[in-house]
Amino acid sequence: MSFKRLNLSQKLIDTLEKLNYTTPTEIQKRAIPILLQKRDLLATSQTGTGKTAAFILPLLENLTETTKQKRGEERYKIDALILAPTRELVIQIDHKIDEYAESFTHKSVPLYGGIKLGSQVSAIRAGANIAVGTTARVLDHVKNGSLNLSNVKVIILDEADKMLEMGFIDNIRKIISLLPKQRHSVMFSATFPKPILSLAKTFLKNPLTIEIDRENLSTQQVKQLVHYVNEEEKLPLLSTLIKKHRMEQILLFTNTKVQADKIVEYLKNHNIKAQAIHGDKTQRMRMEALSNFKEKKIQLLIATDVAARGIDILNLPHVINFELPTKNEEYIHRIGRTGRAGEKGEALSLVCEKELFQLKEIEELINIRVEPITTENFEFTPHITLTNRKSKKLEKRDEVNLKRAKELAEKMLGDKKSTPKGKQKRKKSTAINPTNKRHF
Ligand code: AMP
Repeated sequence: MSFKRLNLSQKLIDTLEKLNYTTPTEIQKRAIPILLQKRDLLATSQTGTGKTAAFILPLLENLTETTKQKRGEERYKIDALILAPTRELVIQIDHKIDEYAESFTHKSVPLYGGIKLGSQVSAIRAGANIAVGTTARVLDHVKNGSLNLSNVKVIILDEADKMLEMGFIDNIRKIISLLPKQRHSVMFSATFPKPILSLAKTFLKNPLTIEIDRENLSTQQVKQLVHYVNEEEKLPLLSTLIKKHRMEQILLFTNTKVQADKIVEYLKNHNIKAQAIHGDKTQRMRMEALSNFKEKKIQLLIATDVAARGIDILNLPHVINFELPTKNEEYIHRIGRTGRAGEKGEALSLVCEKELFQLKEIEELINIRVEPITTENFEFTPHITLTNRKSKKLEKRDEVNLKRAKELAEKMLGDKKSTPKGKQKRKKSTAINPTNKRHF
């Protein structure tokens, strides 16, 4: 199927051709016709699926083009608002608009915190009709009188679940209350927990829904590997793997800012160039790290999940999970960073003893057995046998049954002495002994 079949204008198709977009992705095929008809939409928004173009292309077509100079208060009125959870994602969406809108008169302005309002106010005044922003910064501009939402015709929430998770629900509701009732509303979210559904109910009018198959995403392009390792050996193993396999352009995920900085420091001492992006870094530092990574000046970009949201790096060969994410769903987002738009990629998780059970859960979630690999001199010596949830339940039930039987026997025999502790416990476990299959 070609973009022509989606009823996009020729000038937009020409731009897409220049960008080497020949075939629409699944989400584009399904979302674009709905959005061109200005129907409200609730859709899944996995990274790497081409979802940004899925909502931007119809937006460009639907908005009325004008070259008329705006005057007075009109200068602060915009036609479309896109909300996203992080600055990086805001910047990225804004760049995509610039790319796709090459042959349109539409102009977009990115609104995010960490820098002064001034330059953004000038860009709004200069005639932007689309604003892409984080919720707090959008409200800052509204308060400042430099953004007026009363004329918004299209509102798009990108990664809505992430915005909720980051505590922006009140900001979102406040912004929605400032929009006209008559509007086109779109919501992309990777997951649909209850608060998202209740927001969707009030925010969208008779929405159509699209869900892109989660399994396909994690299995299609990405080779998934696990290296079992003793926790204290994760850092030495990491530097060994990078050097031994001459790995370049690695996006490494970790769960905390402290850990991210620790990894950078360790790698620096082992002559491996890495930079971290996380919430404690200034906007300038984050942008610098990202551009150093894109320009291959550093080998690794180390990121926490929130900071990494929305980062778009094409042809990224490696993703490493230094730790498994705190939420299993996040694993899919992480590995979605590699294997993007048709490229092959590899995602490696360094899993220590305390993460064994979580890896099982993730394997259940994605319906795949992640392939184990080993490295010489990094033997994994677990101390526990892993029990799955079901067998834990059975174990508990057995314990209760045994206790009851013992009490009954004691009553019948009139014997109050109890059996020594521990003897009554019968282990019923499904042991998982991670066998290492091949060297990496
Ligand atoms: P996204 O999921 O929106 O972050 O997009 C992932 C990457 O795929 C981006 O770098 C897009 O430029 C690229 N992309 C989106 N749609 C297409 C397409 N139809 N053909 C080729 N590349 C695409």
